Amino acid sequence: MTSLTAVDPARIDALATELRTLLGEACVTTEAASLERASVDGAGMSPLIKELLPLGRAQLVATPTSKDLIAATVAAAVRHGVPVTPRGKGTGNYGQGIPMGGGLVLDTSRARRILDAGNGWIEAEAGAVIWAMEQHANRNQQQLWMYPSTAQSTIGGFVAGGSGGTGSIANGLLHQGFVLAVEVVHALPEPTVVRVEGADAVPYLHNYGTAGIITAVRVGTEPAQPWRALLASFPTYEQVVGLMRPLASLTPTPRLVSGDRAEIAACLPADLAIPAGRASLRAILDEASVADATALIEAAGGTVDRVLEGAQHTVKLSMNSYNHPIEWLQKSSAEPYFHVEVLGDALVDDLAAVEAVYPGGMLHIEAQRDRPIGMLAAPYVSPAQVLEGFDRLAALGVRTHNPHQWAVDFEPERTTALAATTDPLGLLNPGKLGAVVHEHTGTQM
Ligand SMILES: Cc1cc2nc3c(=O)[nH]c(=O)nc-3n(C[C@H](O)[C@H](O)[C@H](O)COP(=O)(O)OP(=O)(O)OC[C@H]3O[C@@H](n4cnc5c(N)ncnc54)[C@H](O)[C@@H]3O)c2cc1C
Repeated sequence: MTSLTAVDPARIDALATELRTLLGEACVTTEAASLERASVDGAGMSPLIKELLPLGRAQLVATPTSKDLIAATVAAAVRHGVPVTPRGKGTGNYGQGIPMGGGLVLDTSRARRILDAGNGWIEAEAGAVIWAMEQHANRNQQQLWMYPSTAQSTIGGFVAGGSGGTGSIANGLLHQGFVLAVEVVHALPEPTVVRVEGADAVPYLHNYGTAGIITAVRVGTEPAQPWRALLASFPTYEQVVGLMRPLASLTPTPRLVSGDRAEIAACLPADLAIPAGRASLRAILDEASVADATALIEAAGGTVDRVLEGAQHTVKLSMNSYNHPIEWLQKSSAEPYFHVEVLGDALVDDLAAVEAVYPGGMLHIEAQRDRPIGMLAAPYVSPAQVLEGFDRLAALGVRTHNPHQWAVDFEPERTTALAATTDPLGLLNPGKLGAVVHEHTGTQM
């Protein structure tokens, strides 16, 4: 599994020469440290994948500075028969960004212009930082429908590799209407950019660039709201979990509600000031619902420790939601931890049984409008231990997503059929279509 493939160096040299003319010297590199950096992503979050690293190595990195240059770079690579692995900020956490076929890593992070914005939408080049798009929208009294906890990541990487985050309680996952249009370049010898809108854009989402490299994205915005960051603490985690449904049902709908056991809360950054030994609830609430939320929290036996105004406070809660508490737990612990992404009513109704699936199991929970989602973390023993737990979770009615494998698992047949026409030579992000490592892929959230 760990044998690395590499492209004939003569073809890499020829492509590098062409790209230096096209993009300029400063935008093309074969320097070892840059190749190394471009060959890793957040896959280290999975101890199962970590055991298999390195899984690929870039031979060339290009950083085009506009969407047109992204398209021209892809066309040049195709003409030279060199695989292309697209990359935003490289925060994807299953190894989807590792260049398993060697070749070119196309780093979009300098093609980052915000192109235009209006009532209900904003459009940007693929490498635009999501938080910069939120700030741009805010200046027009708008806000993004959603953004991931990695708010500093790129919009192209988010729609190609992510799923949801802050804003998902009201607006669902990113393939459920958030992406209004994408411009995509197909792997053909002439730069072939297509613009697809609405439902036609969905086949290009969450499949790691395997059916086309996204050059620009238009996503949904809505009128900005006066958000507040609320931090509350409780004697027990069960009290926090019991509030997920009532808080998700508040009007206006919260932007985020995250909960953690005291053991995980203790690993979070100190400036979140969670009282020692207490379970933590962190929410981004419209100011109009703070009083109702406070009443619910106090009735459940909790204490509201702080309510803060300002984007610097709300984004801090976002950046400590979803996978981040697990990452902090991993950083703080001497023993390795793994996690499984989980969804279902049992997270609230049968917390003890869910956590008992793995010895030492601890659930990080996020409220959603229909069913809560979370990350179930536990000390890591072996791949078999992790995979056996999937069946036991299914028996509890919990749906899972397996973050320990990098194959496209969102509508893979649809992507394979599309890629057969848009990437006939199989040059886009090779290794991500079909080959499933750690066979139990979960039941798809
Ligand atoms: C601690 C932690 C917390 C996270 N929290 C969240 C979260 O709340 N919500 C969430 O959805 N995700 C989350 N993620 C996953 C990831 O950080 C996000 O999805 C992020 O938005 C990815 O953006 P990026 O710029 O880092 O993309 P990258 O990691 O660079 O790329 C992601 C994937 O998309 C492909 N890609 C990149 N750019 C393009 C392009 N222009 N065209 C086609 N394909 C492309 C890459 O090849 C790769 O397969 C988290 C990850 C970690 C490690």
